[in-house]
Amino acid sequence: MTLYTLNPHLRFVRRTDDEVLISRGSRSVYAELLRDDAGGGVLADLLERLRTCADEDELASWARESAPGVSLDVPAVLSHLAQRGIVVPAGSDPAHTHLRTVFPASSAPDDALRDSVVTVMGDGTLADTLAGQLATSGATEAGATLRRVPAPAPDDVPEELFTGATLVVVALDRPDSTLLHALNDTALRGKTPWLPVYFDGGEGVIGPTHVPGESACHLEFELLTDSSVGFTGHMLELRHARDAHGPAATPPPHQVQIVSGLAIEAVVAHLVGSDRITSGRAVRFDFERMEIDYQDVMRLPRCPACGPQRAPYRNPFL
Ligand SMILES: [Zn+2]
Repeated sequence: MTLYTLNPHLRFVRRTDDEVLISRGSRSVYAELLRDDAGGGVLADLLERLRTCADEDELASWARESAPGVSLDVPAVLSHLAQRGIVVPAGSDPAHTHLRTVFPASSAPDDALRDSVVTVMGDGTLADTLAGQLATSGATEAGATLRRVPAPAPDDVPEELFTGATLVVVALDRPDSTLLHALNDTALRGKTPWLPVYFDGGEGVIGPTHVPGESACHLEFELLTDSSVGFTGHMLELRHARDAHGPAATPPPHQVQIVSGLAIEAVVAHLVGSDRITSGRAVRFDFERMEIDYQDVMRLPRCPACGPQRAPYRNPFL
């Protein structure tokens, strides 16, 4: 018989015997008031009891002793609380439970992640860290499969690297515009969503998540990035100089952990269908200025990379 306990990612505040305020933290957007409208007077005590795990029989025994005058359908109550994620099976993987808590029941993270395939592409420390964090994110417990592949040469990107993937995460220790454009072309041909994550010196860039046919491709992202750069200083020259070399060093591990962690949030949000973080925008973590910036990315009407794949928007008779 399954043992249940309170969801360890939630905070419980007893208001009355029949009302318990549930949230993830004092400023969390996830907050609800759980109330027993029938006024049985045992709801708060029941949740208090579930601070230590109990199965149906133990809970029924507790109810008979603690509330002899109350008729409590223990299996139905436990099922209801478990369905809402308020109680979880004892011993559940904390990361998996976290996923189920963060994403509302309507998005059913387990259904979305089951059978999904995430490919992490890259050879450096960011790709290593990202693959490791993804493996412990709870995604695999929910049924996702993780694949790890090396970064290909820009002039020889095998289609198989994208084939069968639900999402390809390209993680680079330094920007490689040529490679990213080659990967963009391959992803567009196979209509495979992908997410670039890379370091540009003291800045970590996460996203945007490119979904062929739905959102801007990587060429549009680059063009719009250039269009937002003022013609002062050496910024454009530094971005596009052909004979540049370096930096050769890998980014500091603590910065890699931060950028990788943000990318994991973006990956999981994309897989469960939540439109946030890097959907239509990139997140830039600037370690030199200690700033986080969000760069929204529009679609260009005549993008030379993905434009040919779009449905014609001109009236064919004009
Ligand atoms: Zn495009």
